[in-house]
Amino acid sequence: MEPTDPHPVTGLPLPSPAPPGGGWPGDPATADTPVARTPAQVRRLATSAPDVPELQARLSVCRACPRLLRWREEVAVTGRRAAFADEPYWGRPGPSFGDPDAEVLLVGLAPAANGTNRTGRMFTGDSSGDFLWAALHRAGFAALATSVGAGDGQALTGMRIVAAVRCAPPANKPTGAERAACEPWLRRDLELAAPRLRAVLALGSIGWDAALSAARGLGWEVPRPKPRFGHAAEVVLRTADGRPVRLVGSYHVSPHNTYTKRLTPEMLDEVLLGLRRPA
Ligand code: SF4
Repeated sequence: MEPTDPHPVTGLPLPSPAPPGGGWPGDPATADTPVARTPAQVRRLATSAPDVPELQARLSVCRACPRLLRWREEVAVTGRRAAFADEPYWGRPGPSFGDPDAEVLLVGLAPAANGTNRTGRMFTGDSSGDFLWAALHRAGFAALATSVGAGDGQALTGMRIVAAVRCAPPANKPTGAERAACEPWLRRDLELAAPRLRAVLALGSIGWDAALSAARGLGWEVPRPKPRFGHAAEVVLRTADGRPVRLVGSYHVSPHNTYTKRLTPEMLDEVLLGLRRPA
């Protein structure tokens, strides 16, 4: 029998990584969810996903990037941090988290090996997430100031968190090919959000570039030359039917930026509070 450990929130004994539909709380997939094994299959399954829940289900079982697949599963089995050695790891791509009818999408970089890759929820389980969730709560987007994992009561209103790359990369550095392979998931997230979307908040330059590239891929109007990333940088994109969508930049909530005070809570608060303004 496969070894199991109790889920830290529900206590349910679960294997690591989490098998699709195997009982992980909030798992969007089932054993029948179609699996993308190549970039071409990612494009096909992302484009044909009919709605946000099915898109999250499909991307959460994606196996298209061999290096990232190996890394995320290796961490989940033999690379668990000592403090979490007795809990199961998600070990799969991170699905989006938040309001499926959101007017704001927050685009992060990629899951952390012992953060989202452990908890299965975006920005959850590491110090980057602690900084972000406190700010999201202050700004009125998040129900709670902390995020532990599925079953903790956390919820977002008006916002959904997505990412440029959905699998934890070694050293937090995805390759160009991995970023390109993953883009169709983000593109479809953007497309499904478009009818209500007012703003996209990009954390860091990789999130900024990924949002611009996904918007261009959807045929949205993107200013030329390519807008430069910066903290509180802002440009207006136009959807295929001409609706304005603000793209706003923020320094990433990485420990490097927050410990050095390059990004302070006040700086992030200002950007988050400004997101509700119309374009
Ligand atoms: S990074 Fe994206 S495309 Fe690559 S395996 Fe993960 S979910 Fe699939």
